[in-house]
Amino acid sequence: MTLSKSQYIRGLQCHKSLWLYKNKPGLRDTPDSQTESSFNTGYDVGELAKELFPNGVEIEFDSKNFNGMVKKTKELISNGTEVIYEATFSEDGIFAMADILVRNSNTWDIYEVKASTHTKEYHKNDTAIQWYALSKAINLNRAYVVHINNQYIRNSKLNVQELFTIDDITDIVLEKQDEIPLQLAEMEEILNGEIPNIDIGKHCSDPHGCDFSSHCWKHIPKKNSVFDISYAMGKQWKLYYQGILSIDDVPDDFHLGKNATLQIKHHRSQEIKIDKPKIKEFLETIKYPINFFDFETFQNAIPRFDNQRPYAQMPFQYSLHILHEDGRLEHKEFLGDENSDPRRPLSDQMLKEITPTGSIIAFNQSFEITQIKNLALVCSDISDKLLALNERFIDLAHPFQHKHYYHPKFNGKYSIKVVLPTLFPDDDELDYKKLGSIQNGGDAMDTFANLYLLKDKSQLAEIKKDLLAYCRLDTLAMVRIWEKLYQFTEEEIWIKLKL
Ligand code: SF4
Repeated sequence: MTLSKSQYIRGLQCHKSLWLYKNKPGLRDTPDSQTESSFNTGYDVGELAKELFPNGVEIEFDSKNFNGMVKKTKELISNGTEVIYEATFSEDGIFAMADILVRNSNTWDIYEVKASTHTKEYHKNDTAIQWYALSKAINLNRAYVVHINNQYIRNSKLNVQELFTIDDITDIVLEKQDEIPLQLAEMEEILNGEIPNIDIGKHCSDPHGCDFSSHCWKHIPKKNSVFDISYAMGKQWKLYYQGILSIDDVPDDFHLGKNATLQIKHHRSQEIKIDKPKIKEFLETIKYPINFFDFETFQNAIPRFDNQRPYAQMPFQYSLHILHEDGRLEHKEFLGDENSDPRRPLSDQMLKEITPTGSIIAFNQSFEITQIKNLALVCSDISDKLLALNERFIDLAHPFQHKHYYHPKFNGKYSIKVVLPTLFPDDDELDYKKLGSIQNGGDAMDTFANLYLLKDKSQLAEIKKDLLAYCRLDTLAMVRIWEKLYQFTEEEIWIKLKL
């Protein structure tokens, strides 16, 4: 048996996952765009971390010739090379590639590079298995995890020494050495046998979302399963282990929290709850002109601009619908230049375009308020004006979060992506799926973060058009939801709108 480091980690998470990976790879789920984007981030971070130990020699990856990679590593070790990137070993049934291997007199230090902002538990297992394999071939000194320091703030040239934090985890790695041969023996036995009889459980998403979920979870109803109960605080598993798979079968005396109980009650009765006085009270807090406002942000593991921290949310776009008391609806928008820091021009335009009086409406306002606080830190000369905006926010999620309006289709949730299609089920104008290439916040975030790398510039105009259309829909959706709330209170004001 030969296992790669990642297969060993897979086996630690679930023996069945390892067995399926080796025997039924065709059952794996296709990676989503989020997984691919994390992979690319990991690659970029790994490349940059090599600058911590410059002038190393890289073992080129060759999927057709692993033996050649191992041989080349041995040559570099014997010819006195000081730093090796992707040093490759195949020892005692483990195929391991160390991100960075650094000679330390006649021993070696292992550096494992991670794009995260701290050393996670599985990073320790990851490094422990590297140590196990490498220690069969060379003398090791220390083991380190190199991860991103999220307190670093870029100031002109990127300072690689400050961008990374290096954790010495040698002691933990050594403690784990005794258990590794036992784990390996167990995995070998599993792989020599039939598919292990392992049920789904919390391990399916810890530490990684398993890519055999579609296969293993197919007995779970696609809709209204116990795993669709929101805010159940892990009690779904208690129900599952009692053989209860559907919300319909949850016993009346099974204790769940207030939100989950309400969800089940409305699911069963299919009743819509409308608390008109509370909705009216909420609407009365909103003052004209009403600014419906929404940011889009991107994140970089490696800061591109001055005053940017790793993984900081960077607002690059907003959409603003302004509803005046006479029923006029205006639309304004901003989309940053992908090659420069968008925060200052965005802040300037936002201060000009949001009306000096009236309410500012966001859906889940804490996100917009936090972004404005961060903009105020970067644009200190206009920070007072920026922070003053935060005093005027009203959260359109409030009536849904507090169940002044509740629809069984909400499934206990209240995000705009749940509320909107429920309130407007057949409205093409409000259907995110009818948009172009950008249909959710994740798409917008990844697209803009990589836009400056786009090779085919002829695509730029179309992509920007799609970004604008997506963000515009977010605020138009808020206008429509606000209008609908008026409808619920049976006020006539909503019909004044002219779009
Ligand atoms: S989905 Fe869960 S049970 Fe199935 S292989 Fe993955 S971790 Fe194991």
